[in-house]
Amino acid sequence: MNAPAPLIELAAVTKTYGQGQAMFQALRGVDLRIDSGEFVAVMGPSGSGKSTVMNILGCLDTPTTGSYRFMGAAVEQLDRDQRAMLRRNYLGFVFQGFNLLARTSAQENVELPLLYRGETAADRHRLAREALELVGLDRWADHTPAELSGGQQQRVAIARAIVTQPKVLLADEPTGNLDTQRSHEIMTLIRELNDTRGITVLMVTHEPDMAEFASRQVHFVDGKVDTDSLVPQETA
Ligand code: ADP
Repeated sequence: MNAPAPLIELAAVTKTYGQGQAMFQALRGVDLRIDSGEFVAVMGPSGSGKSTVMNILGCLDTPTTGSYRFMGAAVEQLDRDQRAMLRRNYLGFVFQGFNLLARTSAQENVELPLLYRGETAADRHRLAREALELVGLDRWADHTPAELSGGQQQRVAIARAIVTQPKVLLADEPTGNLDTQRSHEIMTLIRELNDTRGITVLMVTHEPDMAEFASRQVHFVDGKVDTDSLVPQETA
């Protein structure tokens, strides 16, 4: 029997921006395999290609050369609609800036991806409630972002990212706007979602403290993977 395809596989991926004099190679041959259930911290200095690789993994951009396979499917061979479908059904996104709709309740923010998916109002309501409960915010469902702390806003954003039950959560500096205590709380939550729900997590971070929550750390330097190592796990 063949071994199952890895969840994510980048092979010899390059990305070149611009042309002629302004040409810049942001990725210079990236090989990366990520299995289902991993929690990977993507690290490296500014300009090393972290965002570029996350955009490719998130199907927001395509490699210039090389291949990206998601659950065995060659992403570059999918058309725009198929890539949008892959994003909608399998990926969840969390950003540093929360990106919540301002005049809209936590509940409605979390329901939004379900609206795009054409779920009924009753299902949207129920699933959003469950997601808010999972991040510990069920009692705040009717509040708008301005009425919530930064940590709570990021919890809403996480609920919105997981309400569709994605296979992969892509997080770009999710604690970049939070103080140390809130950052640890958010990382504990993400770690729990990884542990108990089996959501694969790919997270860009500058902070070694936050990267310690991951099970694997991949460091980029100059558009390539420099080091790739497992984080020793505490045994109970
Ligand atoms: P990181 O996230 O590690 O800071 P990025 O992936 O954002 O790095 O960027 C890698 C390099 O590619 C940087 O030098 C950046 O200036 C360049 N770059 C990123 N996006 C573009 C773009 N759209 N056009 C031109 N250059 C870009």
